[in-house]
Amino acid sequence: MKKQFAVIGLGRFGTSVAKTLSGLDFEVLAIDSNEHRIQEISSVVTHVVQADSTDEEALRALGLRNFDVVVVAIGDDIQASILTTIIVKEIGVPKVIVKAQNELHGKVLKKVGADKVIYPERDMGQRVAHHLISKNIIEYIELSEDHSIVEIRASRDMVGKNLRQLDIRAKYGCNVIGIKTGVKMNIAPNAEELIDSEDILIVVGNNEDLQNFEKTFAE
Ligand code: ATP
Repeated sequence: MKKQFAVIGLGRFGTSVAKTLSGLDFEVLAIDSNEHRIQEISSVVTHVVQADSTDEEALRALGLRNFDVVVVAIGDDIQASILTTIIVKEIGVPKVIVKAQNELHGKVLKKVGADKVIYPERDMGQRVAHHLISKNIIEYIELSEDHSIVEIRASRDMVGKNLRQLDIRAKYGCNVIGIKTGVKMNIAPNAEELIDSEDILIVVGNNEDLQNFEKTFAE
């Protein structure tokens, strides 16, 4: 059976999550206390309900415990975001993903049981900054506080060399875990792999090491 999703809080972020899931043919229940927000999304998602998510009875009545994933996307009202998270976890939803305003808000959310805390503004800021350092950085994904993955377009200095010659692991402490060539993806590149001008390297490493690597190959 397909996963069932609910999104609570229909600001720009929550609306985008709900619309995207809906566009991918998933059933989505969208909840917001604001009537206008509900009206705006009603033609796009499967179910919409106007409710205050800090009202436990209201959420129970919606059968929220049958949902696989609930996204709490209330930003400004930190109290409502925390209360909603507690209630949704108590109801028994297996996976609750919550948008946090800042690190402290995120810490509290983790303590009250959020399964995943996300920081969309911070993450997008990081991505834009990495892209600004070098047009070659295509994607930046944080794995943990200290480790990330970057997708970096092969720079001129790399082209025609193989991974052994580039010696990325020894020089920068990073690992090339994949090479994309057009639509083809090599997930086990060997040391003799020659880098082509169209290649994209997928590199994992400690943030500091990755930064050195990015700077060296920035163009
Ligand atoms: P974005 O940056 O994604 O636009 P935001 O971080 O500014 O959003 P808010 O506008 O604070 O987020 O909240 C998003 C939505 O959450 C709003 O539409 C608001 O009506 C709704 N919301 C806030 N509190 C509650 C609540 N207790 N129950 C239901 N919905 C709520």
